[in-house]
Amino acid sequence: MTSSRIFDPHIHMTSRTTDDYAAMYEAGVRALVEPSFWLGQPRTSPASFYDYFDSLLGWEPYRAAQYGIAHHCTLALNPKEANDPRCTPVLDALPRYLLKDGVVAVGEIGYDSMTPAEDVALAAQLQLAREHELPALVHTPHRDKAAGLARTLDVLRESGLPPERVVLDHLNETTLGAAADSGCWLGFSIYPDTKMDPDRMIRILRVHGTERVLVNSAADWGHSDPLKTRHVGDAMLAAGFDEEEVEQVLWHNPVAFYGQSGRLDLDAASPSGGLFEGNSVLRGGE
Ligand SMILES: [Zn+2]
Repeated sequence: MTSSRIFDPHIHMTSRTTDDYAAMYEAGVRALVEPSFWLGQPRTSPASFYDYFDSLLGWEPYRAAQYGIAHHCTLALNPKEANDPRCTPVLDALPRYLLKDGVVAVGEIGYDSMTPAEDVALAAQLQLAREHELPALVHTPHRDKAAGLARTLDVLRESGLPPERVVLDHLNETTLGAAADSGCWLGFSIYPDTKMDPDRMIRILRVHGTERVLVNSAADWGHSDPLKTRHVGDAMLAAGFDEEEVEQVLWHNPVAFYGQSGRLDLDAASPSGGLFEGNSVLRGGE
C-alpha cells in the first residue's frame, strides 16, 4: 500500500461530510482543490454564486483544516449554467473573486452542450485566467467526447493561454492522444462504476507515463468515492510502478500545476480548533 502524500486536484467537498475528510486524511490526503460547479438544481440569481464562492473561500477551508487537509478552490461560471441568462452576470463579478488568496485557478469551465452561450463564457473565462495569470481547469464534456475536446482545443488556441497553464479534465482513452499532443496537463477523474476506473488508469499510465498527469476523485453529490486517488496509488504499486512514480502523480504533479498560481499554501492545514464566524464543525450549541 502506498505511503504517498495525496493531493486531490478536483473534489467537491461542499457535498461531503466531515466523515469523508477524516477518511481522506487517514488515506494520506493532505491537500485538495475544490472547483466551483453545478449544484444539481438551477441557481436563480448571481447572489447564489457569491454565497457559494464565499463558502469555498471561508467555511470549506476551515472545515478541511480541522482534519489536517489544505483546501484551495477554483472559481468560475460552470458550463451548464452559462446557458442561463439569470446566471451570466457572474462573469462580471469574477474578476474581484479571482484576486483572493485561496483561488488557484479559473474553473470548472468548458463545454456542456456546446451552445453559443457556452462559447462566450468559455472564451471570456480563459481571458480572465490570462489576465490574472492563473491556471484554468477545463472540463471536457461527458457526451460526444472527441468532438467536444476538438472544439475545446480550438478555443484554447485562440485564447493565447499557454497550454502548460491548462488542465483538460475527465479524459479517457478516446481523448488522451489529442489532449497529450496539445501540451496541456491531463486530468483523469476516477469513478466507482462507470467511466474511468483504477485499472483503466493504470493502462493509460503504462502507455503515457506519469508526466503532466493529474488523477482526481471528482467526488460530489452523486455516486462517487473520495478515496479513489488512494486506490489509484495502490493499483500503481501493485502494477509495478514505484513509490516515486506514485508520489509524482498523486502529489508533485498537482503541486506543480496549481503552484503556477503562486498561491498554494500547503501548511494551511493545522486544526485551529477555533470557530469560523462563530460556528464550528459541530452543529449549533453542541
Ligand atoms: Zn467537478
